[in-house]
Amino acid sequence: MKIEITDVFLRDGLQDEPVVVATPDKLKIAQASAAAGIQRLEIASFVNPKRVPQMADAAAVVEGTSSLAGVRRTALALNGQGISRAVAAGVPEVQIVASASQAHSNANAGSTIQNILASLATDVARHPDTQFMAGISTAFTCPFEGEIAREQLLLLVRSFKAIGIRDIGLADTLGTTSPERVMNSVAFIQDAEPELTYYLHLHNAQGQALDTVKLAIEAGITRFDAALGGLGGCPFAPGAAGNLSTGDLVEFLHREGHETGIDPEALSQATSMALDVVNSSPAIQTNALPIH
Ligand code: ZN
Repeated sequence: MKIEITDVFLRDGLQDEPVVVATPDKLKIAQASAAAGIQRLEIASFVNPKRVPQMADAAAVVEGTSSLAGVRRTALALNGQGISRAVAAGVPEVQIVASASQAHSNANAGSTIQNILASLATDVARHPDTQFMAGISTAFTCPFEGEIAREQLLLLVRSFKAIGIRDIGLADTLGTTSPERVMNSVAFIQDAEPELTYYLHLHNAQGQALDTVKLAIEAGITRFDAALGGLGGCPFAPGAAGNLSTGDLVEFLHREGHETGIDPEALSQATSMALDVVNSSPAIQTNALPIH
């Protein structure tokens, strides 16, 4: 099976690190990722630079990666202002986000799910020529509310479908959901909305993410997020572990006989480069950051 991997190091990986990585270093990592054969990169987040200084150079990263051949670039935006900035910067595909948990939505986005979805609907409608995808954070488990009912998850999926989005990411933000429960919810929404495309964003708190990947592929999911070096937690999801590591994912997929188009040797060089850059970049005070 051909599996698509989106490397989210430059966004999800870096926005939780208490360092600011310089733009040229980010571009170097993007280049190394592309050279390793990674075909999708989540490169930035258009959020308040005062709140998230790690992402203050989002527009420059978009510009600096525009010549990367064969790479689909996406960036995150959380509201109308972020979407407008992303569109102005020339982001080819914008990912918007809502949380499936009311308590997480309040903590992470400072607003209720209903308000977030209502304003996103207006914001997306303002940009008919832009391609959007939607990520649903805490799709299965919330640090505050516990288990998210699959009916609740379906409500979110349908809200995004109603504003024209076909491409939906389901995030196990805490990384603690068992593979069986992830797949129970996934099967439920695949059944209810079979014509949408789903991808998984897994954190790996309990080392179970690869088991989930295996079951998800059996269920027809062919796209996964991962981050170089497994970086990225979530300050608004207490206890959230890092993302599934791209190296681990690629190694696993190849062992299972799947194709990724990624060269493990070159990937391991990109990973070392990414970790070196994080370790050598200037430290900042950590802020409370919006996540996925
Ligand atoms: Zn993540």
